[in-house]
Amino acid sequence: MIKGKEFRWRAFEERDASADGSFVVAVRTTGIYCRPSCPSKHPKRGNVTFYLSPEAAEAAGYRPCLRCKPRDRDAPQTAWVKKVCEYIRRKQAEKIILDDLAAEVGLSAAHLQRTFKQVMGMTPRQYQEACRVERLKIRLKQGEPVTRAVYGVGYSSTSWLYKDANAKLGMTPGAYRRAGEGMKIAYRVVDSPLGRLLVAWTSHGVCHLSLGDGDESQVEALIHEYPAAEITREGGEPDPWTLEVLEYLAGRVTRLGDIPLDVAGTVFQRRVWRELQAIPRGSTRSYEDVARSMGQPKAARAVSRACAANPVSLIIPCHRVVRKGGGLGGYRWGIERKRSLLRAEASPST
Ligand SMILES: [Zn+2]
Repeated sequence: MIKGKEFRWRAFEERDASADGSFVVAVRTTGIYCRPSCPSKHPKRGNVTFYLSPEAAEAAGYRPCLRCKPRDRDAPQTAWVKKVCEYIRRKQAEKIILDDLAAEVGLSAAHLQRTFKQVMGMTPRQYQEACRVERLKIRLKQGEPVTRAVYGVGYSSTSWLYKDANAKLGMTPGAYRRAGEGMKIAYRVVDSPLGRLLVAWTSHGVCHLSLGDGDESQVEALIHEYPAAEITREGGEPDPWTLEVLEYLAGRVTRLGDIPLDVAGTVFQRRVWRELQAIPRGSTRSYEDVARSMGQPKAARAVSRACAANPVSLIIPCHRVVRKGGGLGGYRWGIERKRSLLRAEASPST
């Protein structure tokens, strides 16, 4: 039942004309009901009830919308508009040519464009864009990394995201993802040579790795980082990633490079984190070194902030970045741990 509701809300959000006829959407605040493809501005989800027929909505006291006329089951254009919508949704990752679209339904391109706009309140191209943005939102909510999600829904570059993502997503894609809405995260806390070790992961990879004295503060930090995610604690035998980190801390493994990561950050943060992963075990860099190798020699302070924001200790080895004069600099998981890590890494591994 919940799935049905979810499906209907999505069809409504996407103004999916192919859903017309299978249900109507009633809006409590206006007392009006619409077909799923109604071009009018959308109400808040909490104000919406779904009915399976216009009759059911009217029995509950709602009046039909004058704009989308949900009573006329087969308004003349509905059939082909529905077909066009289906076509666009099927090919939404491709470049759609208006002439192909027109050929698909046997109309002239001009007529198609005009009538589609009348019925849907937007052009076929805008409809395709809206479908993509919806798909992008879903993929980001599922926790997919921003770049992969953007290409995955058919964009050929990520540049538009940084131009008008706010308008399209309501916030930056990173922020959208960072809240962790719709993400499923599992974690485990185990004993390690450096205290309690928390490893958290999604289906894509490790998203959080912390070291601390107690479990509670670390779990709280995880929840704080992904306030909207569904987070569950795992017991039992440690997973291979946790085991590998433990092996590393015991000095029996020298690299953690093969563990997949699933981290969200700003473009700059992610560049810094990639740079850190290139620092080999046993050596250190200064914040200035990192900034310079990124081609932004003046960004040392920003580099230091990106290190402090690193959500995945050890795998992204921010402990290998120190002050220029030789000072240790900061460490999100305790300066003593940074010292121990550097000392252990400086000696040849056993
Ligand atoms: Zn309507």
